[in-house]
Amino acid sequence: MRAVFILITACLAGLMLPPQARAQDIEETGVQAGLTAGSEAGLQDWVAAFRPRALAAGISSAVFDDTMATVHFLPAVVERDRKQDEFTKTIWDYLDKAVSDDRIAAGQRALRDRKDLLDRIEAAYGVDREVVLAIWGLESAYGQVRGDISTPSALATLAYDGRRAAFFEAELLAALRIIQVGDVSPDQMLGSWAGAMGHTQFMPSSFLSFAVDFDGDGKPRIWGDDPTDALASTAAYLAKFGWQKGKGWGREVTLPAGFDYGIAGDRTQKPISVWAAMGIVAAEGGNLPDAGWASLLLPAGARGPAFLVYDNFASIEAYNKADAYVIAVGHLADRIKGGASFKASWPRDLRALTLPERIEMQQHLLGAGVYAGTADGKIGPLTLSAVKAFQRSKGMIPDGYPSLDVLEKLR
Ligand code: CA
Repeated sequence: MRAVFILITACLAGLMLPPQARAQDIEETGVQAGLTAGSEAGLQDWVAAFRPRALAAGISSAVFDDTMATVHFLPAVVERDRKQDEFTKTIWDYLDKAVSDDRIAAGQRALRDRKDLLDRIEAAYGVDREVVLAIWGLESAYGQVRGDISTPSALATLAYDGRRAAFFEAELLAALRIIQVGDVSPDQMLGSWAGAMGHTQFMPSSFLSFAVDFDGDGKPRIWGDDPTDALASTAAYLAKFGWQKGKGWGREVTLPAGFDYGIAGDRTQKPISVWAAMGIVAAEGGNLPDAGWASLLLPAGARGPAFLVYDNFASIEAYNKADAYVIAVGHLADRIKGGASFKASWPRDLRALTLPERIEMQQHLLGAGVYAGTADGKIGPLTLSAVKAFQRSKGMIPDGYPSLDVLEKLR
């Protein structure tokens, strides 16, 4: 949730990371203890130093000591965190997995099997059931992969490691508060390497703010096999961030010939009627909604599908800010509902730039005087604007997509 998008701010415009870290991914990385500078002794020193801060924040000494006695240094967590910046994945590779036929079919089964629960959640929170299911499907494969890493250990390791110490210490404090109110025991508090927990991968701070008890046992419980509380909590979260039932997240559109691509990509919101007047039509045919505002999004540049995204897009962004994640949730929801796949094809001949290539691109853009950011390899709005300016200066289609072609021209 909120934490997760902080973890993936490097992902924009096709330079994607998986929005969620999964427990099994740590094993897949094959990292071994000793690759990082941290140690169990170092972690325990950090815990001792953290103790007075936690107690000052209202954690009882009993809860602190009982919980932190179970905490260990997890080198694989550190390694996984460091690997994120290097991760490169195109949006189409991501979507192939995120919105696979299997995931669509499992979502449709859940739509039938959990109809009564989904009826009640939709009635209570006004959030379309398919989007709740889509988040469940993406976050934990509908509860099958909820993560089996100790959340206190993962968060303590990341806070001690120090790359984002304040953030993870705050999340660890939130985890201790959850334990302190008795919603879960330390040994049952399990989740991903990054501290996201349960069926829909709530970070502890999000749990404290948004988790609800929906099965009536008095406690919001998201860790067990029963997804009732987690699904209701996700609906509550989306409702809190303004989800409007029946309005959709966005849709694929077709742009008219000669379209000015410079308009897209920087989140320029215009009334949908204005976009329609430019000649933009729904890719599937049919009319665009006749009211509301939308932004034009080209996640793979001019050669990939184009989307008009509506206000609900921002509600999903509150869960995870990566464009690919939001599109995956929206599209999976549409597919669960029986909608069609995208009409336009992705530019599958393009590959994602590596981290060194992204840094080099930014260095060239700095040299060209069009980039106002730093050469850190993180592709954000400033980089996209700079790429656009460069493309325009070279007579290329100014879609802002940081392709290898752009890098080669910069060289
Ligand atoms: Ca409950």
